[in-house]
Amino acid sequence: MKKIRTGIGYDIHPLESGRKLVLGGVEIPFEKGLGGWSDADVLTHAVIDALLGAAALGDIGRHFPPGEAEFKDISSLAMLKKVKQMLKDNGWKAGNIDATVIAEKPKLMSYTDRMRENLGNTLGIGADCISVKASTTNGIGPVAQGEGIAALATALIEGEE
Ligand SMILES: [Zn+2]
Repeated sequence: MKKIRTGIGYDIHPLESGRKLVLGGVEIPFEKGLGGWSDADVLTHAVIDALLGAAALGDIGRHFPPGEAEFKDISSLAMLKKVKQMLKDNGWKAGNIDATVIAEKPKLMSYTDRMRENLGNTLGIGADCISVKASTTNGIGPVAQGEGIAALATALIEGEE
């Protein structure tokens, strides 16, 4: 019998000068990038946490601890690929993902399809199973002040009983 589980993920990183802005594996031209130990791809991190959460396999910090040399500036898509394998080892595969990136700037709409392709290719599922939406905080709070970019994701995973 088929079984399904859902999970949620949330992440936020600070915007800093001298860093690349990478979201969903897409490098986006912008005056700042996200600070963090890996490439700080906040969208992919939220997706990873949603998938790990759905499988009750802990969180991203447990599997990819900041401070470990092997994860310094690593592409978060490489981390997502490891998570795909972790799911597989536990009898799961990703079903669908729905995510929202919350940023005041830059405008992300023209990049979201490439993000969906990257995430889908990494997880071995179609881009039609991945939704990436772009939102703002309507002028309120630190994200509106350009201090950082946040992301939310939900994931459904499927397995056999
Ligand atoms: Zn993160």
